[in-house]
Amino acid sequence: MTPSLPEVFPSAERRDLTALDRCDSCGARAWVRAVLPASELLFCAHHASRHIETLSSVALFVQDDREIMDS
Ligand SMILES: [Zn+2]
Repeated sequence: MTPSLPEVFPSAERRDLTALDRCDSCGARAWVRAVLPASELLFCAHHASRHIETLSSVALFVQDDREIMDS
């Protein structure tokens, strides 16, 4: 059986983003998390919408919490 993605890359799984998670581009609060084979990137809503297409094509896993931003 093929191992699931989180078994190979433990970070490729949803985790709660907190106020301590900041956008790698501007330092605002991060709402999107992209897990890459060797690293992890965090983006605020603004930078996520700018990069989401590229991210989706290169990342192993993209967590998009923008819809819960206001909750
Ligand atoms: Zn940003």
